[in-house]
Amino acid sequence: MENEDLITKLLSWYHVFKRDLPWRKTSDPYEIWLSEIILQQTRVAQGLPYFERFIEAYPKIEDLANAAQEDVLRHWQGLGYYSRARNLHACAQFIVQELRGNFPKTYKELLKLPGVGPYTAAAIASFAYNEKVPAIDGNVMRVLSRLFGIRSDVKVPKNQRTYFELGLSIMPADRAGVFNQAMMEFGALHCTPANPGCRECPVQSGCFAFEHNLQGELPVRSKAKKVKNRYFNYIVFFQDENLYLNARGPNDIWQGLYDFYLVETKEAGTPELIEKDPVVRHVMNKGGILESVSATRKHLLSHQRIQATFFVIELKEEHLSKTLFNAGLQEFSKEKVEKLPKPVLIDNFLKDLTVC
Ligand code: SF4
Repeated sequence: MENEDLITKLLSWYHVFKRDLPWRKTSDPYEIWLSEIILQQTRVAQGLPYFERFIEAYPKIEDLANAAQEDVLRHWQGLGYYSRARNLHACAQFIVQELRGNFPKTYKELLKLPGVGPYTAAAIASFAYNEKVPAIDGNVMRVLSRLFGIRSDVKVPKNQRTYFELGLSIMPADRAGVFNQAMMEFGALHCTPANPGCRECPVQSGCFAFEHNLQGELPVRSKAKKVKNRYFNYIVFFQDENLYLNARGPNDIWQGLYDFYLVETKEAGTPELIEKDPVVRHVMNKGGILESVSATRKHLLSHQRIQATFFVIELKEEHLSKTLFNAGLQEFSKEKVEKLPKPVLIDNFLKDLTVC
């Protein structure tokens, strides 16, 4: 199939079948950037309400830059991959403080922003400024691999260059933005991982995978990383109406979010096992009462399966606060806990908590 023919067919398909999404109706780089960060590793249906929530809370980049990080994390709550929210905030601050609120206008300059990789830079440069640079995400790699019979493993980062060069070679200079949109949408809706719509495909006649019946084998993907099991035993210390939580530190999941005192074990925790922890043992020796132990709650992340059990312990002595404070915990009223950014696992548990 001639290149111009391929472009015409893909663009025609796009104009008929594209979804009506708010970030497609703007050339504002702030809104495009926001939508792209939210949509990384996230389905459109899940990301859309978050996009609307962010635009409402932070209509301009200055609003986002000036917000407290806790506030940004709170708006992000439930979307996962929280480093994206922290990078989003850091990037907004960088643009406002270092670039006087002006978004960079070229692919090369956009790549210098914190948290902005080749895909996001290409999406902003092409959608907002029509720069001829291909936005290569998983959907686009799948379409290119099948159309042209490319066997480069899409899971190997250095192979992105192969797909980038191929994408660049077929994209029209005068319709760069809409062509990128069309390729992404075609991969998301039509040339899907399982059961692609080959029978009614507008580019079927030039498709290598269709011709050789290789749709199931292309693109080549190396095996996903093994999922690791982790056992989280959350100790829910409470006294009267107050709960004790701490902000999670770096080098693990959920940095900056709040959770309860955590005792991680190699197997599912029991009351005997968690009492081996010095803080828990101290609290129990000083009159703490184990009110309840929850059923195990499973929480799946991209490469981790969290099995969480909640041990609810009532504190009886005032001076225990010092022990908990030394363990990094802070005391919060129930109302204040509601406003803290928290992992969904914690948020869901709190909805069922009746003791305080
Ligand atoms: S023919 Fe099938 S595999 Fe080829 S581009 Fe169309 S939907 Fe994808």
